[in-house]
Amino acid sequence: MGRPVPIGAAPHPESAIGFTPVAALPTLDAAPLAIVINLVRSGQATTRPELVALTGLSRKVVTQRVDQALSLGLLEDGALAPSSGGRQARTLRFRTRAGHIYSALVGASEFTAAVLDLSGAVIASHHEDWSVETGPEPTMRQVQAAFTALARKTGLDRPWAVGIGVPGPVEFATGRLVAPPIMPGWDGFNVRSWLREHYDAPVWVDNDVNLMALGEWTSGTPRDGRDMLFVKVGTGIGAGLVVRGRLLRGDRGAAGDIGHTHVVDDPSAVCRCGRTGCLEAVAGGWSMLEESARRVSESPYLTKVLEKSGRLTLGEVGKAAVAGDRLALEMIDKRSRRVAETIANLVNFCNPGVVVLGGGVLRTGPRFVDIVSSTVHARCTQLVTAGLTVRAASLDHAEGVVGAGLLANAGLFATAPLSHWVESGSPLGHATTLQRLSAELT
Ligand SMILES: [Zn+2]
Repeated sequence: MGRPVPIGAAPHPESAIGFTPVAALPTLDAAPLAIVINLVRSGQATTRPELVALTGLSRKVVTQRVDQALSLGLLEDGALAPSSGGRQARTLRFRTRAGHIYSALVGASEFTAAVLDLSGAVIASHHEDWSVETGPEPTMRQVQAAFTALARKTGLDRPWAVGIGVPGPVEFATGRLVAPPIMPGWDGFNVRSWLREHYDAPVWVDNDVNLMALGEWTSGTPRDGRDMLFVKVGTGIGAGLVVRGRLLRGDRGAAGDIGHTHVVDDPSAVCRCGRTGCLEAVAGGWSMLEESARRVSESPYLTKVLEKSGRLTLGEVGKAAVAGDRLALEMIDKRSRRVAETIANLVNFCNPGVVVLGGGVLRTGPRFVDIVSSTVHARCTQLVTAGLTVRAASLDHAEGVVGAGLLANAGLFATAPLSHWVESGSPLGHATTLQRLSAELT
């Protein structure tokens, strides 16, 4: 069965994303068609004989379903398969451009919006600095404006689905924010409802770091299927854990919120969540900006930036570090060690195969990854570090939008939703039912 799974396509997307696979298939004529399409889409089958072998369906039924998928534009003919003695079989491909997905990743101080094809590959994207503290309505309008601009640029309007990540805990079944510590005005805001009012497409919402973890686990390099702890360090700090291909979301969607772990008994380390001594308060990007402002006179580099632009940003502190500025290096190293200590505890706890580091901190150069790697190896038991890989995220800051697209994709192509729309050739016009079907599957 030959062909490698295309980049961006999960081999078993239903289990990878968190939709429970349906054991008993619906008794629909569409189900065999959905199965045939998904086997080709995931790369598990590339020819009609392989489909017969994998499904147990008769040759006649497979031929009919493949013809139907070809006429619906969801599959297409590829090259001739290598001969194994008999007649050469024509290979089949999933048409990744049959439709497209809109995806967005909203961070605390920036967001990215993208148009993806159905394999999860980015067709076009847009990135801008934006404070989530502006509130839900202005933020969502800004994301919508970015989608509109991307639609104009690519000619791709009417998305098949929308996936979005936000920097706070999300009630996954509804798409509602739940007591987000760093998003004033967002508590209870339903991101899915807002997007459903503006797009005739099903919408999936998750925590930003979860989606970064998912994007990296599915499409990152190297991709070896081992359990992954993903840690994002930017303005805030968060983690996502992928175990056996599934995201751990926790009972209320707050799993991985390590930024608010208590790490120091210091009443002066006041956190944005209202408590003191949190990891973010001593190691987050926002705490570094506060320290930069207090100590700017110690840094000729940052003094110049402040005089020129009137403000300091994390990007500028990162550039200062890369240029060798002593204050920037001191502030970053101090925070890196703090984060590394917490990561070491987490590694001892869950014994991942891979620790992936992402977020704005990567723009400060390789020091952060080096510090985390050496701390983890020094502090963790030999058993958990023996096969452990510690590396930087590999998708050039696109892992979050890739993960959001994969989440949306899974909501379209899980067997039950796909069986519902597949005979129309497109999910357009089926948004309400698809949203309901996927809610039943979560
Ligand atoms: Zn806190």
